[in-house]
Amino acid sequence: MIKTLYRSITAVLLFCLITPVWASQNAIESVRVWPSPDKTRIVFDLSQAPDYSYFKLYQGTPYRIVIDFNATQLNAELENLANESLLVDKVRTSSPKNSQSTRIVIELNKQAEFEVFPLPANDRYNDRLVVDIKGKSIERSGPAKSIEELKDRKITIAVDAGHGGDDPGSIGPSGTYEKTVVLKIARALAKMINDDPSMQAYLVRTGDYYLGLNDRPQKAWDAKADFFVSVHADAFRTPQPRGGSVWVLSKRRADSEIGRWLESRERQSELLGGAEAIIQSNSHEPFLAQTLLDMSMDRSIAGAYSAARHIIDEMGSVTKMHKTAPQAASLAVLKSPDKPSILVETGFISSPSEERLLLSNAHQQKLARAIYNGIRRYFINNPIENTLLAQQASMEYTVKSGDSLSEIAERYGTTVKAIKRENQLRSDVVRIGQKLTIPRD
Ligand SMILES: [Zn+2]
Repeated sequence: MIKTLYRSITAVLLFCLITPVWASQNAIESVRVWPSPDKTRIVFDLSQAPDYSYFKLYQGTPYRIVIDFNATQLNAELENLANESLLVDKVRTSSPKNSQSTRIVIELNKQAEFEVFPLPANDRYNDRLVVDIKGKSIERSGPAKSIEELKDRKITIAVDAGHGGDDPGSIGPSGTYEKTVVLKIARALAKMINDDPSMQAYLVRTGDYYLGLNDRPQKAWDAKADFFVSVHADAFRTPQPRGGSVWVLSKRRADSEIGRWLESRERQSELLGGAEAIIQSNSHEPFLAQTLLDMSMDRSIAGAYSAARHIIDEMGSVTKMHKTAPQAASLAVLKSPDKPSILVETGFISSPSEERLLLSNAHQQKLARAIYNGIRRYFINNPIENTLLAQQASMEYTVKSGDSLSEIAERYGTTVKAIKRENQLRSDVVRIGQKLTIPRD
């Protein structure tokens, strides 16, 4: 009797192991399409972790990616799906493998590489299945420049608007998304930079889509940017904190409470919008020798500190500053070894009064102007050889302790006579703090 019972329990257990899908029915609750300049992301929101398989049909048109969701019903409308992707023509259903499953067909207007991966549930979303299809999906618009449009002799500033797409960033008390206001500030900043004949902006994120925290410095690297600035709006658990702050990379652990909070929010951002937490991709860093990396990193961090001080100085005249010195945190988005990289928190969106300010176009313009002025000041003090700004920077020189006219003339490839003529000097004596115009030939 006991032996028979044992045998039948084993049979039931085996049965459960073989056909677990009967136990639960999954559902696709909504579908979102996020086109970006180099890929389209399609997100399926599910009530449980997906059980799925997929294949492609690229032999003839329309080119199709087919995804079978096992033991899953479709609760989402596909007819009126917002889709502005240049790559994806249509997302539709097709005859499923069986009555319990759902078959989704993604029609493409060209053959494209793609990835399919699940993202786990978190405090904002349920389980998701993500399809990333590679290829140009929107035009880069507005003040953005493409990599091909960037010119050698201009200083290139990579302007990154934080968050985007599935990741709204912080949310203000009246529902303002950080991703929306920071894109506006970033666009205004990019426009000011592009209006300056000695600089050009590469806008890292140009629309409402998510970019991984490693993709952002990678894009700046591809654009050969000389400087990276990521624009954010802060938030805290309580509504009291207000004001801006500027962050640079710390190779040590962040020391302040807000620093730890910011780091954990950045990880959170990765879980909301990205795949890095799962894929653990690590961009170009492994290809560089560690020592070289460290040396270059130290130089970049020193540059970032100096730029951050200029920006804090400028921001201080247009907004309250939460911190009047550069702050350090170990943020992935700042880990570019080759260029100064900073993160600007433009204010606390969690403060009702600053949320209102951040929404105002006039305040957005002021913040952008302050960041632009700070970056420009940094490059005038730290000119990059062979750039237009270095030439402009050399137009005016402030005499420092130990300078002589002949030294200054030699440094700028001109003559004592030419400097004296330009500045109407009667003698060779110069004093500390005196401003000299250096003639160009
Ligand atoms: Zn942010």
